[in-house]
Amino acid sequence: MEDLKDRLEQALPVIRDGADAADSDAKFPTASVQALADSGLLGLTLPTEFGGLGGGPVDLVEAVSAVAAACGSTSMIYLMHLSAAMVTAAAPPPDGGEELLAGMAEGAKLGTLAFSEKGSRSHFWAPVSKAEVAGSGVKIAADKSWVTSAASADVYIVSSLGPNATGPMEPNLYAVPRVAEGVKIAGRFDGLGLRGNDSAPVRLDVEVADGARLGDDGGGFALMMQVVLPWFSLGNSAVSLGLAEAALDGAIAHASGSRFEHLDSSLSDLPTIRAYLAKSWTDLAAHTALLRETAAKVAAPDDSTMLAVLGTKAGCNEATLRITETAMRVAGGAGFSKQVGIDRPYRDARAGFVMAPTSDALFDFTGRALCGMDLF
Ligand SMILES: Cc1cc2nc3c(=O)[nH]c(=O)nc-3n(C[C@H](O)[C@H](O)[C@H](O)COP(=O)(O)OP(=O)(O)OC[C@H]3O[C@@H](n4cnc5c(N)ncnc54)[C@H](O)[C@@H]3O)c2cc1C
Repeated sequence: MEDLKDRLEQALPVIRDGADAADSDAKFPTASVQALADSGLLGLTLPTEFGGLGGGPVDLVEAVSAVAAACGSTSMIYLMHLSAAMVTAAAPPPDGGEELLAGMAEGAKLGTLAFSEKGSRSHFWAPVSKAEVAGSGVKIAADKSWVTSAASADVYIVSSLGPNATGPMEPNLYAVPRVAEGVKIAGRFDGLGLRGNDSAPVRLDVEVADGARLGDDGGGFALMMQVVLPWFSLGNSAVSLGLAEAALDGAIAHASGSRFEHLDSSLSDLPTIRAYLAKSWTDLAAHTALLRETAAKVAAPDDSTMLAVLGTKAGCNEATLRITETAMRVAGGAGFSKQVGIDRPYRDARAGFVMAPTSDALFDFTGRALCGMDLF
């Protein structure tokens, strides 16, 4: 997208300014999300027919990683919004779907995903909650274990088995306004990282019209696999690599600027330190290239796209664990004591690999795909 850099340049200073407070005070970065809205970036990947910018997977990766390098919490809020928007665009609910999409594109309606459940943990594709028929719609009773932007989003895309489901892999997806009666934030989030993203468990006891359903009855699994999985996995990989870049840049700056006065040398004069930086740079460059290639595959899918999507999230998440760990090692006690600001991306980076599908599940899925086995 031609003007993506300009839009990012407009939003990033605000996002950078809010990053420390989002982390230290666990404060939802309202100004940063507004900056994304003001620059049009909340509609980045939504089709132009819905008021979006019509960007593709490569644009998503560029934008999300740039936001992550500035503020991890904002980048996850952003990614959850885009994931919710893309699945809504793929199957707009008959009741107010177009209006909702226009709001999501212009930033008037912040979206998120409410998939993970207490009963099926990270296996988000298999909700244990089962909606019951209620009037002309359904009643959903579900314990959602984590919802990003829980108290700040305008709309949740909620998974639940429908009344007609015959097995755990036949969920429905519904667009549920956060202010609907029966939506209750059921706990406080006090995370290791991404502390500003307002993730929280949510208890749902809501009545939803059939017209709020995305797609066909029982069609939620296909939407999860065909839409949410590729967009979320690319974006989650981009969050990881943006955080890795921030940590590596911080480590390089620290190594170059920190002196051993008694030796008249700097940390970067130590070959061990330089080798750590070089290995991290190579790791980051390789995974950045992999992510771009996978984004291009999602834009023009072929038989190898699913394998690439699965393996790329796991690979980027794990590379980021290594890179941020190495950055902390390079920065020594200064890193540990927060002087160089590497601790924030280090802590933020520990969310990506436990976000579903988790790295470990993905390595298994990728192995299955490689061996020609069914994923489920
Ligand atoms: C910051 C943050 C924000 C989040 N935001 C959202 C959100 O907005 N919406 C939402 O729906 N969810 C969200 N989640 C939830 C997330 O997607 C996961 O569901 C959650 O992190 C899983 O945690 P758990 O303790 O239930 O994991 P568990 O399922 O208990 O996993 C524990 C361990 O077992 C491993 N494991 C599990 N299954 C397998 C398998 N099949 N093969 C190999 N290993 C396996 C995992 O890799 C992990 O290491 C968020 C999570 C975090 C941390």
